[in-house]
Amino acid sequence: MAEFHEAVIIGGGPAGLTAGLYLMRAGIDALLLEKAILGGAVINTWQIENYPGFPEGISGKDLMERFSAHAKAFNLKIKEFASVEEVSLKDRLFTVKTEKNIYESKGIIIATGTQSIKLGIPGEDRFLGRGISFCATCDGMFFKDLDVAVIGGGDAAIEEGLSLANIVKKVYVIHRRDTLRAQKILQERAFKNSKIEFLFNKRPVEFKGKDSIEYIVLEDTRDKNITELKVDGVFIYAGSRPDVAFLGDLVDTDEEGFIITDENLATKTKGLFAAGDVRKKRLRQVSTAVGDGALAAFELERYLIELKQ
Ligand code: NAP
Repeated sequence: MAEFHEAVIIGGGPAGLTAGLYLMRAGIDALLLEKAILGGAVINTWQIENYPGFPEGISGKDLMERFSAHAKAFNLKIKEFASVEEVSLKDRLFTVKTEKNIYESKGIIIATGTQSIKLGIPGEDRFLGRGISFCATCDGMFFKDLDVAVIGGGDAAIEEGLSLANIVKKVYVIHRRDTLRAQKILQERAFKNSKIEFLFNKRPVEFKGKDSIEYIVLEDTRDKNITELKVDGVFIYAGSRPDVAFLGDLVDTDEEGFIITDENLATKTKGLFAAGDVRKKRLRQVSTAVGDGALAAFELERYLIELKQ
């Protein structure tokens, strides 16, 4: 038998937890489903400096523990390790299927964020967990006083490269162009850091080693010249994409898979809203995810009132 809640939130990162808090404060019976543990990708961030109210910075894990505690204080129902496999709609009632349960609701907020993109090159899968990682905060300590490489030139690569520089002997930042995408303040810090060396106009084409990674094969993006770089570890930050296949044709997405919403975060399906990094937007930060979560909850509340009338 399906379990009914007025609203179901899918995803327990900053957007989902904020939406849950707002819905509970509005007196709406809401359930949050999270496929792993609460907090979303941000729990892997070593230090957040641009979330207002924390001028000294706060770790992603600590900030998300505060978000979870706040939502729980308003009795938000939460199910962790509940991966949603399918959402469908019939007669204005949504059905949400996880591996073990079926839920029904009148409104839904999708806040599932994004997942790291793999490079898709030889050796990547083989050395995953054996020198290759997507999370410096989780695995950085394994490389104390060793040489590592960070792949990418965005905020995540530079921020995590800086955090790794506190632990390891040397960080090579490998970027396929000669200008970084990351925020200027992060770039300036990284350029000043004596432990960080930039290898511009280079892209990895293969990872090599015996039991664990030993070399990155690099191609020069200008003259196609091939070189090998000896490293003990590699951290990949080549961006991220949402995975919303479980929504079928209930939403429209852009060419990269991000959900298209209107300015009130409504998708093409009435009663279905999207909030946070999963939706097409210009700025993906904890602060913008929080704003999205609040607005999506407010709009869902208005939708439920409309339904009753
Ligand atoms: P991103 O901004 O998309 O950057 C990905 C980087 O990887 C780019 O420099 C890209 O190169 C490179 N790349 C992509 N595919 C590659 C490939 N196959 N081989 C080699 N390099 C490749 O991703 P992100 O850094 O994960 O950030 C995602 C979002 O979260 C962004 O909106 C970002 O602002 C936000 N974020 C914010 C913070 C913060 O505010 N503190 C921290 C982390 C993330 P090109 O530049 O040439 O495309």
